[in-house]
Amino acid sequence: MDNVIELTRKLVQIPSFPSQENKVSSYIQNIMQDFGFDEVYTDQNGSVVGVMGPKNQEIEILFDGHMDVVPVIGEWKFDPFGGEIFNGRLYGRGTTDMKGGLASAICAISHVAQHHTLKKRVAISASVLEEVIEGFALGHILDIHQPKSVVICEPSKLKLKSAQKGRAEILLTLHGKPAHAANPEVGINPLLIASKALLALENIQLPKDEVLGAAILVPTDIISDPYPSISMIPNAVTIRFDRRILVNETQEIVIEQIKNCLHQADISDFSIQFTQDAIDTFTGQKISPERWLPAWKTKEDSQILEAALQALQEIGLDTEIGAWPFCTNGSESAGKRQIPTIGLGPGAEEDAHTIDESIELSQLTAATEIYAKIIKEICT
Ligand SMILES: [Zn+2]
Repeated sequence: MDNVIELTRKLVQIPSFPSQENKVSSYIQNIMQDFGFDEVYTDQNGSVVGVMGPKNQEIEILFDGHMDVVPVIGEWKFDPFGGEIFNGRLYGRGTTDMKGGLASAICAISHVAQHHTLKKRVAISASVLEEVIEGFALGHILDIHQPKSVVICEPSKLKLKSAQKGRAEILLTLHGKPAHAANPEVGINPLLIASKALLALENIQLPKDEVLGAAILVPTDIISDPYPSISMIPNAVTIRFDRRILVNETQEIVIEQIKNCLHQADISDFSIQFTQDAIDTFTGQKISPERWLPAWKTKEDSQILEAALQALQEIGLDTEIGAWPFCTNGSESAGKRQIPTIGLGPGAEEDAHTIDESIELSQLTAATEIYAKIIKEICT
């Protein structure tokens, strides 16, 4: 289990932006083979799957960790791909989010398989593209394998998460009537309608949840048609919204809320859709998945949650159960497929996507120990 720090360093030293995970993907495939996984393969999207344990058994637990990292921005003191260790922390892009979690799960599975007899199977998915479209890559793996439970290894400071807010991306297009900018009175300016719409939607009433908190609707960009619109009242304006969703919110409900709010503001000429941006995988697949990623809650009496609690207790860590405010691949496993899922991973959420991203070394070794205990409890 002591090689988890070295493995995390190695993974951090291989840049792996979304759609460019090829190098880290082949490195992980080799590592899983070296570590003696019974089955290792790379799927059509480039995600690497490793399975350990007797072939005739079902997969009890699937650990999920994404290989892709967000871009490096700002002035770094540390080399983002150096994997430097300083004062008990490992520095670099992806240390916390989330090559540390991925390395911990790989090391834990191989450790348990080496020292114990697995009676049931355990698997890991090193997934692509999580930073651009949560759940998509894991969905493909879950089409092939049907694990009884899923552990999302995203950073949680090793605190147990049994729920997560979902996420949707919405495009609201407000239609106008084009005209020369010198004669604006001849047209209908969709920018002015957009400003009215934004103000109305800022005060939209959204539901709240005891565990997950409030649903959120926030505009993230706006673009005219045509763009740029020079000397012209544009034909239309499209505003992109990020919508954080709660359990039981459906696409219909979410759209209806917006429609009602706009109608109340006397806006009627608009259209609404969920985003479906085109994305390329490094393997050459062209995909355009809809950004509708449901929220989820896992029952307190599920086996995976109980095993995780027990592991945390044995190590003497906090056993309080919480929720993630951000979206993860759990939206696919739990939100769409109702597979009992927990979130539990090394590193602090606040350190993700930051300048000089880093992770505490002790988080890596503790995560590996906790994962190993969970696997032993359920699979041996
Ligand atoms: Zn992440």
